[in-house]
Amino acid sequence: MAQKSHIKVPASGQRIKVKNKKLVVPDNPIIPFIEGDGIGPDISKAALRVLDAAVKKAFNSKKKIAWMEIYAGEKAKKIYNEWLPDETIKAIKKYVVALKGPLTTPVGGGFRSLNVTLRQVLDLYACVRPVRYFEGVGSPVKHPEKLDVVIFRENIEDVYAGIEWKMGSADAKKVIGWLNKNMKTSIRLDSGLGVKPISVFGTKRLVRKAIQYAIEKNRTTVTLVHKGNIMKYTEGAFRDWGYAVAKKEFAGKVISEKELWDKYNGKRPKNKIVINDRIADSMFQQVLSRPDEYDILATPNLNGDYLSDACAAQVGGLGLAPGGNIGNYIGLFEATHGTAPKYANKDVINPGSVILSGAMMLDYLGWKKAARLVEKAIQTTISQKTVTYDLERQMKGATKVGTSEFASKIIANM
Ligand code: NAP
Repeated sequence: MAQKSHIKVPASGQRIKVKNKKLVVPDNPIIPFIEGDGIGPDISKAALRVLDAAVKKAFNSKKKIAWMEIYAGEKAKKIYNEWLPDETIKAIKKYVVALKGPLTTPVGGGFRSLNVTLRQVLDLYACVRPVRYFEGVGSPVKHPEKLDVVIFRENIEDVYAGIEWKMGSADAKKVIGWLNKNMKTSIRLDSGLGVKPISVFGTKRLVRKAIQYAIEKNRTTVTLVHKGNIMKYTEGAFRDWGYAVAKKEFAGKVISEKELWDKYNGKRPKNKIVINDRIADSMFQQVLSRPDEYDILATPNLNGDYLSDACAAQVGGLGLAPGGNIGNYIGLFEATHGTAPKYANKDVINPGSVILSGAMMLDYLGWKKAARLVEKAIQTTISQKTVTYDLERQMKGATKVGTSEFASKIIANM
């Protein structure tokens, strides 16, 4: 039986389309949004207000987003009796660009993460997370302003692919039995198993996107982050395939670290992107000890997940860390933190992450003026020291405001 439709398409808007491999964005694009669980309603409300105000101001009311609510998580369970309705996935595919609040994922059990599922079914293979410092925010390091990186994390493969067998299950026993017999491994029978697939295809399209971004945005370096010294055929191959795509598809536009020193005495020519690689554990200490030497970081899935949060903490926490999950055309922009259930419906949490994800979304639409307005207004509001609890506890002499008031201050500062 066909699922009943619950999405109300706004009459005032038009669809974003893809023509000649480019997005064609009307002045009144229909943009679906998922409110999210836990703190989702509070931060989504705040974000929509801020984004609307920025678009209005930047384009003198000539452009306006026609928001369209779509459902996932607890709200979808109530409305559809399903966690991730087909209608939601179809809407994101049809309308191309969407904004999303955090969704609950119970640990363990038979419940697949909705976030991971969305990324996989929509083939959103690049998780893009810019991390930079907002002046005045408290940070655990002396020079947080030195970190300004964009992490391109592969979003589909690696140990996140969801190919796992529970310890003791018939399938786990079958796989262990086969490996021990045919591949001469000695895996203990009481092991749970997971598979780590990393492909040429998945790696190349991710690294290609990272290099294209570096060129378009005039960045300086793309670093391939991997643990290839240990996992040679997955992480090590990620590095090799990354270099291969750089060499073959971006010849003349990229130089290796060796060339940088041998040919250019360590001084990067303006029109070249340096491509280098670092082992993941070293990368974690490098972002702390030499943050200004890094720029775009391309990583497999698991390393990228850890590294994004570590970098976000370095510049003051998850509350201001935006993210976008991007495929060939579809872009699903989302807060990088979770549902923080203890703060749900209290109007206290920092909406900065989803607001900045919205700014990334505006950039993706080509509405750069509005995106810059959002970022500048957030900076001004932080400089005025009127901030939510998470920033207030790290700043001397700051005034604590709630989620909605913080959003109002940002709007007033545009
Ligand atoms: P979490 O929801 O991110 O919250 C952990 C802590 O991070 C919070 O207690 C809070 O710390 C801080 N925090 C989170 N959001 C913040 C914000 N907007 N502003 C300021 N501080 C913020 O992580 P979790 O408790 O591990 O996960 C809860 C649920 O969210 C789980 O079901 C998880 O699976 C899910 N999750 C979803 C996504 C997603 O939808 N993309 C991502 C991650 C997790 P303090 O208490 O110290 O202030």
